[in-house]
Amino acid sequence: MHCIDACPTGALRPGTTRRQVAIGVARIDQRTCLPFQGVVCRACWRACPFSGEAIRHDALGRPYVDPPHCVGCGLCVHACLTEPPSIHVEPFGSKRRFPRETPP
Ligand code: SF4
Ligand code: SF4
Repeated sequence: MHCIDACPTGALRPGTTRRQVAIGVARIDQRTCLPFQGVVCRACWRACPFSGEAIRHDALGRPYVDPPHCVGCGLCVHACLTEPPSIHVEPFGSKRRFPRETPP
């Protein structure tokens, strides 16, 4: 609550929902993401503040993003083990399009 009291712009408000703070949505590039190549990796899932909601796994352990739960914070991007990262944040309103994920 201290950060809410101290915020000079009023950007933080009690009762703010995840949807209200979302700035984009993460997308996984299945062409380079390690589990899609048969390698176990959960680095993005571990980094996500909403792991198990925003990032889930299919029966083969391959990650996918559940957009309504993702806020676009980018922590998963920084945690990704591939270079360049296999997960990107697509900002809302952006014309740039990353490779589509195939839903599980
Ligand atoms: S952008 Fe943030 S909320 Fe969305 S999947 Fe990545 S770490 Fe999770
Ligand atoms: S951290 Fe990167 S390589 Fe690993 S599962 Fe997530 S997107 Fe795929």
